[in-house]
Amino acid sequence: MPLVILCGAVRPGTRRLSQLADLPEVHQMLRQTCRDFADRELAPIAGRLDKEHRFPAEQVRGLGKLGVMAVEVPESLGGAGLDYLAYSLAVEELSRGCASTGVIVSVNNSLYLGPVLKFGSEEQKKEWITPFTTGEKVGCFALSEPGNGSDAGAASTTARLAGDEWVLNGTKAWITNCCDASATVVFATTDKNLKHKGISAFLIPMPHPGLSLGKKEDKLGIRASSTANIILEDCRIPRAYLLGEPGMGFKIAMQTLDSGRIGIAAQALGIGQAALDCAADYAQKRVAFGAPIAKMQAIQFKLADMALALESARLLTWRAAILRDAKKPFSKEAAMAKLAASEAATFISHQAIQVLGGMGYVTDMPAERHYRDARITEIYEGTSEIQRLVIANHVLKEYQV
Ligand SMILES: Cc1cc2nc3c(=O)[nH]c(=O)nc-3n(C[C@H](O)[C@H](O)[C@H](O)COP(=O)(O)OP(=O)(O)OC[C@H]3O[C@@H](n4cnc5c(N)ncnc54)[C@H](O)[C@@H]3O)c2cc1C
Repeated sequence: MPLVILCGAVRPGTRRLSQLADLPEVHQMLRQTCRDFADRELAPIAGRLDKEHRFPAEQVRGLGKLGVMAVEVPESLGGAGLDYLAYSLAVEELSRGCASTGVIVSVNNSLYLGPVLKFGSEEQKKEWITPFTTGEKVGCFALSEPGNGSDAGAASTTARLAGDEWVLNGTKAWITNCCDASATVVFATTDKNLKHKGISAFLIPMPHPGLSLGKKEDKLGIRASSTANIILEDCRIPRAYLLGEPGMGFKIAMQTLDSGRIGIAAQALGIGQAALDCAADYAQKRVAFGAPIAKMQAIQFKLADMALALESARLLTWRAAILRDAKKPFSKEAAMAKLAASEAATFISHQAIQVLGGMGYVTDMPAERHYRDARITEIYEGTSEIQRLVIANHVLKEYQV
């Protein structure tokens, strides 16, 4: 699918949406639906949700009704049956309204439903997917541990077979959605000597005996999404809750994160877009030295650099999604998209505060929230350093001498 930016007339006060020339009608409709939902249901309350650290349960149920909680899941299992480009368009638009809601949607779609859809048995799909498509229940993904994040292969959480049950022990750290979740995919090692090849993936309902949560983290941004440790103490689950084959866990985690990174890139685009919208609007209204500050070249250059960073990252994100939809390799492109979009979001939201001056620094305007929300996109689902490692590995393979 070729990428083309269409130029067209813009109604005053209306931002022209970047377009794929042959974006199918269903994608356009989903994008507009999510855009309207974000403007109507999310943007007006995003500041309050952030202040109150409140999970937007009602809004998530609304998104379930729209099919957005399970974009790629086939209709036969209760999902929307669309592709990853559709999913990334939805996450961008929702994150423009509320970045916390963006990550709640992203984790349910790509980190929880994604691996169950790809690696689950038919029975597992019915049990662990369909109830999570409606927005009534959300899932989470527990890979990181207090002792290892980037080095995910060093998992110390253990799983052992005892008769017909798996018994899990250990602590998983930083788990998004977990205070509000009804199930999690958990990674644990069945044989530490095998290192990453000893890791397996398991499904655990929440709440469940032997599974408890640590304190809810008090975060810089995305404060309406919950983050906490999952503590497993002799947590017993049926043998049938193993996802995939024993020892397949690391592969499941890495493949899940390859896709997940496109979702985080889309979240970062939404945050960057919201910050640019805010700055471009303010610059035309704020008068200094007898004219709107938008007349000053110093401000225009900032807006130009912000728009450039955003649009380049958007093209990378769409490319990664389109490659994935075409079942072509996309790991390098997903890492590039996540790296570019997350650094763009940080840059744009930083510049937006500068354009707003003092008003950028207070909570009366959303710019400071965009700045706080942007930062996490450079950390989770692989830090910017890890994205650079992934890209460099591909580059070196391509140029192997
Ligand atoms: C709000 C939030 C939500 C999260 N949600 C989830 C979730 O839902 N599920 C989940 O499993 N995890 C989640 N995480 C964990 C997240 O993925 C990790 O924090 C991240 O992968 C980094 O791991 P770390 O914090 O252990 O940092 P470390 O791995 O200790 O890294 C510290 C620093 O060293 C750098 N570094 C490490 N290794 C290398 C290397 N080889 N080369 C160069 N630099 C390196 C890193 O880039 C970083 O700058 C979340 C984290 C946060 C903060």
